[in-house]
Amino acid sequence: MNPLIIGAGVMGIAWLIKQLKDKDMNYEIDFLPVGNGSSSGDAIVVRYGENGDDYDNYKVMIIDGGTKDSGQALVNHIKKYYEVNYVDYVVNTHPDQDHTSGLSIVMEQLEVGELWIHQPWNYVSEIIHHFKDQRITEESLEKRLKDKFSASYALEELAIQNDVEIYEPYQGMEIGVFEVMSPSKDWYLHTLIPSFNKTPERRLESASMFDGAKNLVKNIFESLEIETLKEDGETSADNESSVILYTKFNDEGIMFTGDAGIEALKHAVDYYDREGVILSEKIYEKLKFIQVPHHGSRRNVSPIVLDRLLGKKGQLENKMAFVSAGKDAEKHPRNTVVNAFIRRGCKVCATQGNSIRQHHNMPDREGWNSITPLKFSSKVDGYDE
Ligand SMILES: [Zn+2]
Repeated sequence: MNPLIIGAGVMGIAWLIKQLKDKDMNYEIDFLPVGNGSSSGDAIVVRYGENGDDYDNYKVMIIDGGTKDSGQALVNHIKKYYEVNYVDYVVNTHPDQDHTSGLSIVMEQLEVGELWIHQPWNYVSEIIHHFKDQRITEESLEKRLKDKFSASYALEELAIQNDVEIYEPYQGMEIGVFEVMSPSKDWYLHTLIPSFNKTPERRLESASMFDGAKNLVKNIFESLEIETLKEDGETSADNESSVILYTKFNDEGIMFTGDAGIEALKHAVDYYDREGVILSEKIYEKLKFIQVPHHGSRRNVSPIVLDRLLGKKGQLENKMAFVSAGKDAEKHPRNTVVNAFIRRGCKVCATQGNSIRQHHNMPDREGWNSITPLKFSSKVDGYDE
């Protein structure tokens, strides 16, 4: 018996009606390893369907494809374990190469139903006013965006070639049983796109500020009560643009976060709270599975946003958190981030070179063993190290 099984009916926020039917849903979530060991990326596939239904009717969704190698591994994985050669939904959370490249292999080798991807170049006339001081034309802005997001643009072209339907994942849209929680179209086009070339200032500031003081910030201690994670972490606009997906299987919340940062996670929880008025519940009461954002980087989560997502510190382990991290990636996941998830009731499991799986009522796989969750670390890196 897999101890990591989390109980699983389907419902997303927008699917109140579907919830009333309260079907028993089976599902599996696979995180494949990405990269050569020192780098990290995401290659995730989810399969779900109604208990008792034929597996052929189950839906398959890929969320990011990692590198070309992990894209190939995803294709092989789907053929071997799901015994199909199609994917219903392919989602590209954001345009970073380590999330996007592998999706081109998926598009080339599997039948794909829908591609979900941001296409900012389609909105140049709406957003050109943000770039006025840079004296660029609509044509040059379009070119600039296509160059900057070349891997995503290549996916779009591949989809057109292969007659795959393309949609843009913005807040409130449904992809299968999942709902997009962030980004909203407005925030994406008018805040994130104009900031895509900016590096978060804090990183530069703290690098110079702490250079001479490195030895002073070693040996930081944490306990279940003491947390050193900070509120003011910043990540890049392209990470913040990551698609955050949410659904409920059997009344338990499942969330995927890509490389989202604190702002995007706040947008997601705010969105849930708005709809939550109808449901009169908080997301932390339901969430049972979450992807640790951005491979466990500490600037992508904060105590306040984690309290809102997972509930306050000091809970019993009743949730699962998965993180995609390279086997030898020194900074992924950060121990202070792993601690923060453990404190709020999560078992945290990392890929670190292996495929990891969470499932409810799906076939056992030969040779797959139970995962050992990461341990709480009482000694952590200083926040600005
Ligand atoms: Zn990433």
